[in-house]
Amino acid sequence: MKQSAVMRSTLGRLPLYLRFLQSLDITENENISATVIAKYLGFGEVQVRKDLNAVSGAGRPKLGYRTDELIKRLTEVLGRNDVKNAVIIGAGKLGNALLEYNGFIEYGLLITAAFDIDESKAGITEAGKQILPLSRLEEFCRKENVKIGIITVPAKTAQQICDRLVACGIEAIWNFAPCTLTVPEEILLQQENLALSLAHLKLQMNNA
Ligand code: NAD
Repeated sequence: MKQSAVMRSTLGRLPLYLRFLQSLDITENENISATVIAKYLGFGEVQVRKDLNAVSGAGRPKLGYRTDELIKRLTEVLGRNDVKNAVIIGAGKLGNALLEYNGFIEYGLLITAAFDIDESKAGITEAGKQILPLSRLEEFCRKENVKIGIITVPAKTAQQICDRLVACGIEAIWNFAPCTLTVPEEILLQQENLALSLAHLKLQMNNA
């Protein structure tokens, strides 16, 4: 199954399944049923079955899933064995918040450093992450095999940063700046808009 076929909502629950399975003693739990997983995590059984079918195929009648195989498959889908390095450009309020957040590693993403044009921001954060001068971007990305660029600079400078990241050989961009970026066809571009997520929630409230 292509990993892109896993729905966003399912993807959000996969780390919880994996954490639960990894907490089990495999010798005593060679097989695991969707019923047991659902009960432990407080999810609906139908939802658990649907999620696990999407990543691992159907469980066997009466036996459920082989626990070790399910762990292997979830690890694969979450990209834990294929960690991709990312960098942040713009170590301001948002850039710093992302840099300090530990949750990306659950999905096989490692933010290795942030860069800022303001050289007075260079240094090591409390969490031990490095902020480097923008002048070191190209050298760092090549040396550390960086694949993802996260843009948290003001909109007026975002395209220029985007072009520099593309020239560094990155493959995907996660853009927070409120502007439309132009990238070559082969580069994956995801535009993030937190206001849009909240607006979507508000719309659902209004329709409830
Ligand atoms: P901020 O002013 O705190 O941080 C911006 C940082 O970018 C500063 O440290 C600045 O020195 C640095 N910078 C400016 N030009 C640069 C350049 N050419 N190269 C490298 N660094 C540069 O701003 P913020 O609140 O962190 O917001 C950052 C961006 O994210 C803005 O574009 C903002 O509109 C956007 N934003 C988007 C969302 C969203 O949901 N998409 C949410 C919040 C903020």
